[in-house]
Amino acid sequence: MEKLRDRYQRPLRDLRISVTDKCNFRCEYCMPKEIFGPDYPFLPKEKLLTFDEMERLIRLFVRLGVEKVRITGGEPLMRPHLDQWVERIGKIEGIQDIAITTNGFLLKKQAKSLYRAGLRRITVSLDSLDDEVFGRMNGQGIPVRTVLEGIDAAKEAGLSVKINMVVKKGVNDQDILPMARFFKERGDTLRFIEYMDVGNSNGWKLDHVLPSRFILERINEEMPLEPVNPHYFGEVAKRYRYVGTDTEIGFITSVTQAFCSTCTRARLSADGKLFTCLFATEGRELRPLLREGATDEEILQVIQEVWRVREDRYSELRLLNTKGLKKRRKIEMSYIGG
Ligand code: SAM
Ligand code: SF4
Ligand code: SF4
Repeated sequence: MEKLRDRYQRPLRDLRISVTDKCNFRCEYCMPKEIFGPDYPFLPKEKLLTFDEMERLIRLFVRLGVEKVRITGGEPLMRPHLDQWVERIGKIEGIQDIAITTNGFLLKKQAKSLYRAGLRRITVSLDSLDDEVFGRMNGQGIPVRTVLEGIDAAKEAGLSVKINMVVKKGVNDQDILPMARFFKERGDTLRFIEYMDVGNSNGWKLDHVLPSRFILERINEEMPLEPVNPHYFGEVAKRYRYVGTDTEIGFITSVTQAFCSTCTRARLSADGKLFTCLFATEGRELRPLLREGATDEEILQVIQEVWRVREDRYSELRLLNTKGLKKRRKIEMSYIGG
């Protein structure tokens, strides 16, 4: 099949699948508890794609060029039998890489079974080593120890682990150096993510963003860094290495240095909508096609149509201060997956 390209000639390579919109955390920048309270209408079970449905879609995406799958959410480890699902994806010919992004809360329990299922790498989010700051940021008072135990369990099980830290100015920027020192010492890769204006509920302001170049400067002053060449086209993190070590650090400059021109990612929500950007306002429903007897060729046709007309470059437009962007009603991060 001819390689699929969007309007800016970007191929479709990565698929991020949200397996649930629920989460056991209430991170202030993602699912603030004032909005995601006890009455929040999460998706009912019958609306979630089943593993069979997701597998069918992945097989079709592979025919269009997808090689990598990232499982996300909400909190993906809350989806029952996630290990079985990982095992099934691993058997799909053409999938070269499977990863999960998790808050780590359930990792201690699940790390071994995920490894046995064929998972080899995982990204764990952790925003601070200070219980008070972290407890406030995760909205549930969950202590740092819980996540560190999850990370340790994952490493013991044999998984390669990366840690993601979202930096919000005035909230956890004082934790940048302690986090860098701690994970350097352990030889773990830490990646800093610029706080983004995803969704409509986190009250984002540009003032809250600490540009990655300042973080880099701060760390480099104390622990000298050298750049590492990208592994592949479209690599999201700018990678560095602590001089004289093998330990890497990364920067995801989603706000200050947009990387839309190499964005090869499609996203599938837990209820089967296809999105072509994290900042999308709407998605294309695939679930009705799956449940109402569409053939593989018909579904392929729809996905191709969506990708061919794709013009998304939200972060570039944000940098250009494009008018009207702020008024857009975007999809929430916990629904579409990070
Ligand atoms: N629950 C899992 C977790 O937290 O790792 C997976 C889903 S979460 C939406 C995926 C990633 O997005 C996490 O690393 C999280 O920190 C990041 N994230 C969420 N909201 C964000 C925001 N407003 N700006 C930047 N990153 C964000
Ligand atoms: Fe949950 Fe992850 Fe969002 Fe935090 S960032 S609320 S852990 S989905
Ligand atoms: Fe990709 Fe959209 Fe992010 Fe740009 S803003 S990198 S197009 S997801």
